Amino acid sequence: MTAPGARPTGSTPGPPARTEQSPGRLATVSPGRWTLWSLPRPALVYVLAVDLAAVAVIVAAFVWRPVTGRDWLVAGLLFLGAAVHAEAARHIERIRITRNDRPFIDLKSMWTFAGLLLIHLGPTLMLVTATFAYWWIRNEQRPAPHRWTFSWATVVLGTSAASLVLLGIDKSTLLTAAAGPQGLVLIALAALVRWTVNHGLVVGIILLISPSPSVRRHLASPSDTLLGLGALALGAALAVLAAASPWLVPILLVPVIMLHRGVLVDQFRQAARTDPKTGLANGAAWSEMAEKEIARTRRLGTGLAVLMVDLDNFKAVNDAHGHLAGDEVLRAVAAALSAEVRGYDAVGRFGGEEFVVLLSGVDTASAALTADRLRARIGALDVTVDAPGGTSRIRGLTASVGCVASPKAAGTVDELVGAADSALYEAKRAGRDRVVTAPPA
Ligand code: GH3
Ligand code: MG
Ligand code: MG
Repeated sequence: MTAPGARPTGSTPGPPARTEQSPGRLATVSPGRWTLWSLPRPALVYVLAVDLAAVAVIVAAFVWRPVTGRDWLVAGLLFLGAAVHAEAARHIERIRITRNDRPFIDLKSMWTFAGLLLIHLGPTLMLVTATFAYWWIRNEQRPAPHRWTFSWATVVLGTSAASLVLLGIDKSTLLTAAAGPQGLVLIALAALVRWTVNHGLVVGIILLISPSPSVRRHLASPSDTLLGLGALALGAALAVLAAASPWLVPILLVPVIMLHRGVLVDQFRQAARTDPKTGLANGAAWSEMAEKEIARTRRLGTGLAVLMVDLDNFKAVNDAHGHLAGDEVLRAVAAALSAEVRGYDAVGRFGGEEFVVLLSGVDTASAALTADRLRARIGALDVTVDAPGGTSRIRGLTASVGCVASPKAAGTVDELVGAADSALYEAKRAGRDRVVTAPPA
């Protein structure tokens, strides 16, 4: 696992990874210009402490145990496997979207965890360093040096902490049937310690630099956690296989790539629910949310309302400024609608320039007030767009809104949307730029 923003490949459709290269390549070269120094003081101290601890642990590991030729051979072969894995999974990582406020989970840990189970700590930490260096070199959009170093340091410390679990254990027996259930417990414990220290250190820095103090928000998602622990479990399987029959290790690469493809499932699921243009829920996802909300509101005995918002004469915006500018306006409207309602109200894009909003726990009067606020907010938008003849500003947009409230949350999604749609039609007929409220459903 690595700190967020330290992505293995570039050209992602997600939020751009902040790299040290933005002020020019010189920034990477000249330590005085590293963005490391612009971190808030507690974060800076934290990062430097973690980095120094990692270096100290590596030195101590080599002083503690002499390294054998076999250690280097195994470390070298594992590195080879990690490199083949990284190359085979490049296309997956390229399209993977990651969030900057959560730890980035990757699967390199599989190879280094196998190393921990097979060889001494010193060469294992060299293996960690080599896989990170490889990742850095092959990274199209290299993370800032301090992010890379910090990520590396958290893995070094996690691995070293895990090695304490195995202290005094004969590793050649640990990976055979002779270890019995104790072997399982020890390996699982080592994996857990490695995950916890690594993850904990990464979440620590996110909390120090992020404005949101919520720990839960910054933890790895459940599926990412499963992925990270899955990589460690595969590392254990790899170690057993390598100890028993090293020539069979390449067979494991196939399920590893399969597991790696699994990182995209969440992303595809999210994409299937999202309107790519505006980032809002698409029609199907909105209907699903609305259905759940109707059931919930009905249980609570409160009301809800559905608003249908349609931009007026939007075709004219496209005709005057082009469709790309029109898209820009749609994004601005989507952002305005989301900003104007409460976090738990569901906003969706129903189609073209039609948006739909579900307001929970409201009566007819407050729903109509909110609808008018949304209309006014769209009217106040001032969108700067790149048009063929240079940038231009689009102002004076208007929208018509159909509003239907359901005091007892009666009716289905389709009935409520249908009623809001009829009210919208009335608003258009009555001259646009207004809210029409249907009789309560
Ligand atoms: P009215 O006030 O009656 O709603 O007029 P209108 O022009 O907004 O309505 P109409 O339904 O005739 O046209 C909708 C327009 O919205 C036509 C289409 O070009 C535009 N539109 C729909 N989807 C998109 C989109 O994704 N991007 C852009 N730029 N325009 C879109
Ligand atoms: Mg319209
Ligand atoms: Mg329309």
